[in-house]
Amino acid sequence: MGVSAVEDEDDPFEEQREKAENPMRRLFLQYGAEKKVAFVVGVFSSIVARALDLLPPILLGVAVDAIFEAQGAGDREYSLFLVPDAWIPATEQGQLYFTVGIIAFAFFGGAAFHYSRNWGWNAFSQHIQHQIRTDTYDKMQRLNMDFFADKQTGEMMSILSNDVNRLERFLNDGMNSAFRLGVMVVGIAIILLAVNWQLAMITLVIVPLIGVFTYYFIKTIQPKYADVRSSVGKVNSRLENNLGGIQVIKTSNTETFESDRVEDVSQGYFDANWDAISTRIKFFPGLRMLAGVGFVLTFFIGGLMVIGDGVGPFTSDLQAGEFVTFILLSQRFIWPMAQFGQIINMYQRAYASSARIFGLMDEPSRIVEDPDADELVVSDGEVVYDDVSFGYDDTETIVEDVSFEVDGGDTLALVGPTGAGKSTVLKLLLRMYDVDEGSITIDGKDLRDVTIPSLRRQVGYVSQDTFMFYGTVEENISYGTFNSDRESVVEAAKAAEAHEFITNLPEGYDTEVGERGVKLSGGQRQRISIARAILKDPEILILDEATSDVDTETEMLIQRSVDRLTADRTTFSIAHRLSTIKDADKIIVLEDGRIVERGSHDDLIAEDGLYAHLWGVQAGEIDELPDEFIERAQQRDANRIEAGE
Ligand code: ADP
Repeated sequence: MGVSAVEDEDDPFEEQREKAENPMRRLFLQYGAEKKVAFVVGVFSSIVARALDLLPPILLGVAVDAIFEAQGAGDREYSLFLVPDAWIPATEQGQLYFTVGIIAFAFFGGAAFHYSRNWGWNAFSQHIQHQIRTDTYDKMQRLNMDFFADKQTGEMMSILSNDVNRLERFLNDGMNSAFRLGVMVVGIAIILLAVNWQLAMITLVIVPLIGVFTYYFIKTIQPKYADVRSSVGKVNSRLENNLGGIQVIKTSNTETFESDRVEDVSQGYFDANWDAISTRIKFFPGLRMLAGVGFVLTFFIGGLMVIGDGVGPFTSDLQAGEFVTFILLSQRFIWPMAQFGQIINMYQRAYASSARIFGLMDEPSRIVEDPDADELVVSDGEVVYDDVSFGYDDTETIVEDVSFEVDGGDTLALVGPTGAGKSTVLKLLLRMYDVDEGSITIDGKDLRDVTIPSLRRQVGYVSQDTFMFYGTVEENISYGTFNSDRESVVEAAKAAEAHEFITNLPEGYDTEVGERGVKLSGGQRQRISIARAILKDPEILILDEATSDVDTETEMLIQRSVDRLTADRTTFSIAHRLSTIKDADKIIVLEDGRIVERGSHDDLIAEDGLYAHLWGVQAGEIDELPDEFIERAQQRDANRIEAGE
């Protein structure tokens, strides 16, 4: 039985899953309702198609008895259920034509209903799959950033692809089969009972046996499949990890060690798989034996009845034709029974998948837009933080009582050790998170009173690690602006000092970049990002360590483009290299989420505190920070490790 062994081992969405109640019902009511017609067509056609499938074996039995037997015994009338006797031709020849006609109808009608059945189920399931995928993606994009920090991209992908596909498989194959099998089993049972209930009892006695057998089989194999999934997960992580670290493996000369480790996990997978396989391959032979017992008994007792040697309750008259019907139908009875196990399994998986999907959809958003929010109109670009405090969770305050003002067009630089909260302070300006206390205003307007799109349109963000979307250079520059023409893109690229290198790319602005395209260096990506910001022309700009990890020449180019970008714009800048922010109108120094120093470069140098010392080290004037700073840095570092970061 083809129970698939592929499912994710750990479930990082357990929390989401538990929140979703009755996911299958919701799936049908919320998404299925739009495709009621397709659903009804699918169900109806499934039933009719299967009923038509059952016609030929019945007719065969009836025809054998009526047409052929009648020549000898002459005591058997041609009659069919549901068909009035008046419709049945009187002559044997007529009856033959009639039978052939019905059989032909059963085949051709069957074909038509098979078609409409597949149309119905597919239309229904594809629609649901498509809607769910787009809705889930849409929802995912709007989730809080911390959701993405916690969950791996791979896990998100798994919901969007595996879970959605699994739902489709169940809706398409599982439900379709469930109806088909239901009709088969019930239909055949009714026919057998109608033809000869005594013999039917013999045929049907194996049904519960098959049910019990299948149930125990699934119970035995499921934990084995869980082992397979877990070991396949181990193999994948090991391979992924090793391929990622191939350089370290080579330079540490640990190829043999790593090969052994891979062999170990692969052996684990082999063993788990073999264990599952050795159980699985017993299923069909077992089923066959059970089916064989039923078949042999039916054949034996039915045969006795036909030749008139029956015993006990099995002495009723059984015609050869009826016997043929029995044999043909009982054959068709066994496999559907076995498939029910498979369907139950599919249902369980679909249930888990839809629970994960709806759990995700129900994930509350921390950022809620006020229904009465206005469009943000930036005139001066004055930004005020008033006593702002914030923590990602309830346990720790990351930003504490931060207050400052930046006049329109000015530049404010944030300085401080890693983890001091610089990025967090600026994420609050983009409203990636809401402040816990205090307020942030732009031109006197509280961020919580303006619409999020209007805010993000006017606050540009240039990060140190710019992501390139798969597409051309031009598309990457105009990303977010979209309606710009080539000319303005080139102009922006020139201002960002990117034009030169772009024209040197194989296809200039039409060169494909991103994961599958040409790889750009960090410095080149930064300039694309700056060009993007220049084109977007926001009133307020955030530069997050815009000049890290590049050589001095590139840094100079970037600095020049940044100067152009920041002129006349309110700018927030985070930089480790203090030389780049020396000319900022204001500098604030953060330590552990609090402002510890503020002022201009000259003020801070005069103050002789943390900034002055950092500056001294970077300018090469002093060799090392004073011990107290180093101790504090070590303490912070240790705390970070404790917090599991
Ligand atoms: P900086 O930009 O000064 O290096 P950050 O603002 O990035 O500092 O981080 C400040 C603190 O907040 C750090 O301790 C960091 O671990 C924590 N932090 C940052 N992002 C998150 C997040 N999404 N969830 C929880 N904690 C976070």
